[in-house]
Amino acid sequence: MSTSLPILEVQHLRKVYKSTVAVNDVSLQVIEGTCLGLLGPNGAGKTTTIEIIEDIIPPTSGEIRYRGKPRAQSFREEVGIQFQHTSLLNYLSVLETLKTFAKLFTDPEELDFLIEKCQLQPILERRNNKLSGGQQQRLLLALALINKPNLVFLDEPSTGLDPQARRNLWGIVEEIKAEGKTIILTTHSMEEAEHLCDRVAIMDQGDIIADGSPAELIERYCGQGTIFLPGNFDTRILTSLPYRWLKEHNRIRIEGDDIHAIIGRLSGMNADLTGMSIGAANLEDVFIRLTGRQLRD
Ligand code: ATP
Repeated sequence: MSTSLPILEVQHLRKVYKSTVAVNDVSLQVIEGTCLGLLGPNGAGKTTTIEIIEDIIPPTSGEIRYRGKPRAQSFREEVGIQFQHTSLLNYLSVLETLKTFAKLFTDPEELDFLIEKCQLQPILERRNNKLSGGQQQRLLLALALINKPNLVFLDEPSTGLDPQARRNLWGIVEEIKAEGKTIILTTHSMEEAEHLCDRVAIMDQGDIIADGSPAELIERYCGQGTIFLPGNFDTRILTSLPYRWLKEHNRIRIEGDDIHAIIGRLSGMNADLTGMSIGAANLEDVFIRLTGRQLRD
């Protein structure tokens, strides 16, 4: 249940490797019972940030507070981490894997509950190396929940899954959220972020460059929607205008706050606007507006 209190507070986090500033100055709060998504292009610093928060690597500087206090030794045992590439022992079955991990904790979750929650019943006897991507992710999720954590970290939970397996996994994550657990996830999928996250923080080059609910960010950065022109539009016209534009597959995206002004300028130059469309903005538009880049999905 959400208490509107931050379960986690991060202040001025910084991580510097020899010549690389992986995380420059990240501050954020996560309210209990909500889902925060960390988004950003490759190399933005998401994994480093999350691994510092998880207490896997130390920060160069900065402070992290869990339930109002510096993280105690027990922090690692109290949180759940779904790794992207946990090496599961090939020769173990799903059930054997669950039992093996359960033995690591003094008060593990009921296995029957986890099996049902993560839809593992039909594959309990299957060996880990025979699992599909979706089945493997469901097992990794069950393992992340095995110590009854209140705070769960998911690292790109649906990467590589087909649309059905992905929707299925989202359903499970939503159920976990409905139980009152707090979730922090990294993702490259805007759709996933819009679907699961109450708040998203967009990172670029080691900093958070925007944060808010998906709806707030869309309103703040792309309230009027986005103009698209057909791919064969004569782009020489655009080079003389003060708007950034991007060529995407078979269309051209024009960036600008005031779409009426953009259309006015284009019409004034007698541009052929046949095939122009205005799309309702989504989180991907916000991301492109802020970073100038598209996310790989
Ligand atoms: P991706 O989406 O590709 O996973 P990311 O946003 O998670 O990227 P990080 O993996 O946190 O980004 O990396 C941020 C920057 O820090 C990158 O430039 C990366 O090369 C660098 N970096 C990360 N780990 C190390 C390390 N152990 N030593 C040196 N540089 C590192």
